[in-house]
Order: sequence, then C-alpha cells, then structure tokens
Amino acid sequence: MAAAFVYCPRCATPLQEREAAGRTRAVCPAPGCSFVHWGNPLPVVGALVEHRGKVILARGRGWPEKFFGLVTGFLEAGETPEAGVLREVKEELSLDAEVVGLIGVYAFELRNELIACWHVRAPDAQEVKLSDELEAWKAIDPDKLRAWEMGTGLAVRDWLKARRR
Ligand SMILES: [Zn+2]
Repeated sequence: MAAAFVYCPRCATPLQEREAAGRTRAVCPAPGCSFVHWGNPLPVVGALVEHRGKVILARGRGWPEKFFGLVTGFLEAGETPEAGVLREVKEELSLDAEVVGLIGVYAFELRNELIACWHVRAPDAQEVKLSDELEAWKAIDPDKLRAWEMGTGLAVRDWLKARRR
C-alpha cells in the first residue's frame, strides 16, 4: 500500500495496528485522538490521448526503460475529473485536448489508486511537448496498440475492445 503513516498526522503519536471497522488498520492510541489511517484508494485520472490518428503513450520519470502508459495525474481540490484529465494532458504533453468519452474506472491495487480513464482527442495542428514529469513518449497506431493487464492497461484493453465492435 502506498504512503502509510508511521506517526499520527494530528498529534504525532506513533500509530498502532488495531482492529477498526472490520480490518487491521493504523490507529492513533492517544487519549482524545480518534485518528484512523483508513488507507482509502486515491482517485487518479488517466487519458488515452488520440492525436493525428495515433494513441500517445508516455513514460514517467524513473519508470523502467520499456514501460509506457497512459498520461495520469491527481485531481486538484474542487476540480471535476474531466477538467482534471484535460489539465494533465495540457501539463504533461502541452496539448489542448477535448473529452471524447469515459473508458472506465479501474482499481490499481499495487498503488492503492482508483483510476478513471477517458478517451480524449488533441488537435492535429498542435505538437507534443513533454513536461519534466515525463521521460519519453511514443505515438502508436491503434491497430498496433497492445494492452497490458495492470493499471491504465485495462483502459487500453477496453478501448481497443470497443473500437473493434
Ligand atoms: Zn493522534
């Protein structure tokens, strides 16, 4: 699980493993403090970016050499998921995309995230410019695009499946 707390974020007491609401969780034992680290999955938005008839995959900083995925990011407070996904595409690829449709929502248990993925389309006239968060990108012909069975790969799988209908 990602980023577990060691100390209570409210009162700095070391957390203890205790039973809470049916599971063992990190709970603050300090009198008067009721903090429980619920460890709920963090919502993430992801974009399958269509640009010039191809799908853009990107590699994040520090990812293994051959690993590419969809552009993803966290939502800002008060932001709708659609606005968030378009902002991420703008920040990471410098493209002003528009939402075509929601592909699906997927549990990414390895990172304790819940990823909502959209199909978005970017104008052909714009060029991809990578942000510092990304190390590399590639544009793949949808007919050659292969899904992977984890994280945003599940959205690629479902998008390809819907496309073949
Ligand atoms: Zn506490």
